Amino acid sequence: MKKFIEEFKTFALRGNVMDMAIGVLIGGAFSGIITSLTDNFIQPIIDVIMGRAAYTLEDVALFGSNFISAVINFIITALILFCLLKAMNKLLSVGRKEEAPAAPTTKTCPYCKSEISIDATRCPHCTSELS
Ligand SMILES: [Zn+2]
Repeated sequence: MKKFIEEFKTFALRGNVMDMAIGVLIGGAFSGIITSLTDNFIQPIIDVIMGRAAYTLEDVALFGSNFISAVINFIITALILFCLLKAMNKLLSVGRKEEAPAAPTTKTCPYCKSEISIDATRCPHCTSELS
């Protein structure tokens, strides 16, 4: 179970998963604009053309403000997601710094392939001189 949580953490924190989730959320917010566009512009125009409804100036103003609030909704959502992503990236880069591997302290002897100290000038296993 612990391994499962660990694997899920690596999966969820991977950058592309975050990007994908944000893409889905932005897509949802954007579809709000599209819905508002059809509800407040295209549908009334069709209604008027078909003679199904007559709109007063007040209605038109309401449609306009509905659409503007949908656009504002989208902008706020995008802004919040952007801030969230920035904070997330910062968090991830901090995590990465902690996990950065230490400078290597060993090397492999070219003659006997044993692991030896990085500044050895002679291999302790095969006694070969190293340049
Ligand atoms: Zn050696």
